[in-house]
Amino acid sequence: MKIMVAVKRVVDYAVKIRVRPDKNGVETQNVKMSMNPFCEIALEEALKIKESGFAKEVVAVSMGPSNCVDTLRTGLAMGADRAIHVEASRDLVPLTVAKLLKKLVEVENPGLLILGKQAIDDDCNQTGQMIAGLLGWPQGTFASKVVLDKEKHTASVDREVDGGLETLCLDLPAVITTDLRLNQPRYATLPNIMKAKSKPIKKYTPEELNVEIKSDFEVVQVTEPPKRKAGVILSSVDELIDKLKNEAHVI
Ligand code: AMP
Repeated sequence: MKIMVAVKRVVDYAVKIRVRPDKNGVETQNVKMSMNPFCEIALEEALKIKESGFAKEVVAVSMGPSNCVDTLRTGLAMGADRAIHVEASRDLVPLTVAKLLKKLVEVENPGLLILGKQAIDDDCNQTGQMIAGLLGWPQGTFASKVVLDKEKHTASVDREVDGGLETLCLDLPAVITTDLRLNQPRYATLPNIMKAKSKPIKKYTPEELNVEIKSDFEVVQVTEPPKRKAGVILSSVDELIDKLKNEAHVI
């Protein structure tokens, strides 16, 4: 079986986000970019499944500007066998990414497609659900445990839901999106970073895949959230009640 993993290049989680002066988006120039943390978890899971003998190949795919190749190289250094880059200069909305992924799935025929549950830049949490809908494949979102059954050709997925844990049994091929507690992604070692340089990255354009890049919504303005005021430590419940009554006017 082949596993396809979607990895997105995003502003590193440790970077303090700044709004661009033109208020059209956030600053990405001279900012550290990394693989979306949930995508690292998705790739780690695919590599573990391959190491367990269930899968033969792990293919990492990314859509976006030319420097997505850096993210794919990180994925190859972690252990992916090869990569696919769909080069697009414009920002891609989840439905477009899902349409592009569908085309790649039709070319590659993977038995399992793993995505992060959300990208930490737009926090959409939509692409996995959309691609499962477009393909008509079963989906297990927010996976915190994945167990594959070779004989039955199924995946058992524990998912974190509001009420606790839910276990789903999916027939393969299926779409899985990963939650934080699924695993601890490995670091790429120096020898593997060197090896990754010679692993293949296939290029496509959206036109070659017959997908139109468009968005049904327009960004009007991006602004910083209001600054939060510092909190205060009160010495008694009476003081708290007094402040809630006379300053905050909430009781
Ligand atoms: P989102 O729906 O935007 O929160 O993204 C959820 C997941 O979809 C991400 O963790 C990735 O696995 C995948 N994804 C979204 N955008 C891209 C992209 N441009 N390239 C590759 N994968 C993506």
